[in-house]
Amino acid sequence: MKKNIILMGPPGAGKGTLAKQLKEALHLVHISTGDMFRDAIKAKTELGNLAASYINRGDLVPDDVTIGLVKERLSQPDCEAGFLLDGFPRTLPQAEALEEIAKQISRPIEVVVNLDCDNEELVRRISGRRVCKNCGAPYHVVTMKPKAEGVCDLCGGPLYQRKDDNEEALKVRLEHYVAETKPLLDYYEKLGLLESFDSLVGKEQLFDEVKNFLNK
Ligand code: ADP
Ligand code: ZN
Repeated sequence: MKKNIILMGPPGAGKGTLAKQLKEALHLVHISTGDMFRDAIKAKTELGNLAASYINRGDLVPDDVTIGLVKERLSQPDCEAGFLLDGFPRTLPQAEALEEIAKQISRPIEVVVNLDCDNEELVRRISGRRVCKNCGAPYHVVTMKPKAEGVCDLCGGPLYQRKDDNEEALKVRLEHYVAETKPLLDYYEKLGLLESFDSLVGKEQLFDEVKNFLNK
């Protein structure tokens, strides 16, 4: 089984949803930089205040901040079991730093799972997205409704719309994706690590396909 995994794809491709399914099924540690920043914002820490000023506009948090955060997290003993990086790396300096960190802690990246999704669908998914304030579980007002309106099925927490899930911030996020993150697909292709999946097949089929691939 492959266990040190990067999940890549544009905002709305389904990285977070897939990561939560894989985490349960394969007992991997889920490391989402977006969730880490949102936790820091909720706790009103210094990191949270700094991150919020970038995230709410749709911009990227500076590399040195993000790299430091991931380095600390990946070095913790629970990551020995295998990890799923969701939302990192997003820039070339982050990818290069990750290679260095992985070497230092002897936990090399084994595969990059890339989710393909067309732009129209990304906009539809993000504009209807709701997220649990407690546990971060994702929902959609049309396609992934909770059992009771506004309440998380998993933990009973309240659902809300992320501040960066609006048309304006999404446009900026997609621009960053194309300019800074998409080029990493070439980087990982050259390293022989890239494996792409079509996210339009739906979340259950996508989960099956990726799980079967990782289990090989
Ligand atoms: P999505 O994939 O839906 O855009 P995330 O939850 O992964 O959402 O990230 C939300 C925001 O957090 C990003 O738009 C960015 O501002 C910040 N962020 C997350 N990961 C990184 C990263 N690796 N580098 C810089 N900023 C990041
Ligand atoms: Zn919840």
